[in-house]
Amino acid sequence: MKLSENAIKVLEKRYLSKDEDGNLLEDCEGMFRRVAKAIALADANYTDEDGLAQIEQEFFDMMSDLEFLPNSPTLMNAGRPLGQLSACFVLPIEDTMEGIFETIKNAALIHKSGGGTGFSFSRLRPKGATVNSTGGVASGPISFMKVFNAATEAVKQGGTRRGANMGILRIDHPDILDFISCKKDNSEITNFNISVGITEDFMKAVEYNLDYELVDPKTKETAGKLNAKSVFNTIVEMAWKNGEPGIIFLDRLNIDNVVPKLGEIESTNPCGEQPLLPYEACNLGSINLYNMLTEDGKQLDYDKLAATVKKAVHFLDNVIDVNKYPLPEIDKMTRGTRKIGLGVMGWADMLCSLGIPYNSQKAIDLADKVMGFIQENAQKASQELAEQKGVFPYYEDSIYAEKGIKLRNATVTTIAPTGTLSLIAGVSSGIEPNFAISYIRNVMDNNELIEVNRVFKDTAIREKFYSDELMKKIAKAGTVKGLAEVPEKVQNIFVTAHDILPEWHVKMQAAFQRHTDNAVSKTVNLGHDATTDDVREVFVLAYKTHCKGVTIYRDGSRDLQVLNIGKVK
Ligand code: UDP
Repeated sequence: MKLSENAIKVLEKRYLSKDEDGNLLEDCEGMFRRVAKAIALADANYTDEDGLAQIEQEFFDMMSDLEFLPNSPTLMNAGRPLGQLSACFVLPIEDTMEGIFETIKNAALIHKSGGGTGFSFSRLRPKGATVNSTGGVASGPISFMKVFNAATEAVKQGGTRRGANMGILRIDHPDILDFISCKKDNSEITNFNISVGITEDFMKAVEYNLDYELVDPKTKETAGKLNAKSVFNTIVEMAWKNGEPGIIFLDRLNIDNVVPKLGEIESTNPCGEQPLLPYEACNLGSINLYNMLTEDGKQLDYDKLAATVKKAVHFLDNVIDVNKYPLPEIDKMTRGTRKIGLGVMGWADMLCSLGIPYNSQKAIDLADKVMGFIQENAQKASQELAEQKGVFPYYEDSIYAEKGIKLRNATVTTIAPTGTLSLIAGVSSGIEPNFAISYIRNVMDNNELIEVNRVFKDTAIREKFYSDELMKKIAKAGTVKGLAEVPEKVQNIFVTAHDILPEWHVKMQAAFQRHTDNAVSKTVNLGHDATTDDVREVFVLAYKTHCKGVTIYRDGSRDLQVLNIGKVK
């Protein structure tokens, strides 16, 4: 097995089965075997024992060769009593006391099982509205968000990971200004990412500098007007200040809602890559593109990629059947649409190996080609599964029924952040550029890990400019740009997140979005000196290039950030 020391550390700490005293009951290979066996079992009705053994082996090989990994809850829980395998959930919040606290309870159950939850708070009546039963006044969505946050704090996810939440409020909710600045202080509402739900009408009002109407969700009456440009500027200023809120284009999520008859999409999962209907869950998985290269690392092996996509779709589809859902409503919705989210990791490492700078048109063109190829093959695999096992139960309510395309899964692709998966696979995360060539990473309760990019290391050794001293120098500088010891061609290829202009970040997100059913997890990194105008340009470009949302982060704008450049131990 090709696992790095860091990967083994993470797996032992949080993923491998342990007894009550904390002794390991399996090793990393044992974990992949457990998962492969549990997931293959979904085929028990479709094949014989030999067939099952073959499927299990296929699944095992693709995980242990680090070609494909399912999201963390699948690795942690498959074949174990908890059995909850999805990373992403969306729950509705009704405008009643019972409804709100029912959802808090349900979120707690999901967090305990390792999943993350997204909510729209838009249905809640605004602060100051009347409460009929008591004659008192409502405290508004933000006050309830704080209750959700406190509940999350108290429930550590099954001892493995802290609950993550997404909180969304529509731009036309009367409390929108309070929402936009509710995380002004970074120590507030720390278990939430927040995003403003933006509509096409609002973006038009920004463009023409018009006022727009606020609507009371309870009475549906107009509750005042705000100037769109000034609200947009406030969002920009807050995002500049510390990265929050992000924005999400609600109408776009709904244009791509493939089962509109079942309801409206009002939220995504915590990191924004998975729009879902209320009570829907989705399981994700990612192909390691770096391991899809030919042996010499100079070309992408499209045959291997096609075969891996097919196996990965089979795997993720099986997960739906063996999954143990935390609520009957979730069970029904999730089995009804059978959404899966296949994505990628190691994109930046793959580009480096191919000698293509991330910030180049060549890289954008390749993104279109590679993700287009994955999308096409994933749909094909889902069609083949539909022929064998049947279409998803809500198929007749879907846009695919009108088109006559028979699919097993309502969606097939999602680009996840792969925060832990990429660490396990030892490659760059999702479609992000490398953050630095060598760096210190804060993980889990302030532990720190030192990382040197292995593609760079290989290149440096091959081109005979490697030295430990140089690696330290690079870690301090946070870039290889301008270092005389590094050949210029290599400097151009090994660009890091901060060497890359924000517009290339957005263009890359847009390229992947063009070929992804769900959404794309991406952070647009800006240098510490970036201005609010720079942030505004990023938001507008994301809108114009048809992204589904955008998240920015200006270096150093929070006290505690996950990744630090220029810091050596
Ligand atoms: N997630 C979560 N808690 C975490 C990390 C992730 O609930 O601490 C959920 C969340 O829905 C996120 C999704 O898992 O959007 C995918 O995140 P990522 O790809 O980083 O997870 P991994 O599978 O790599 O652990």
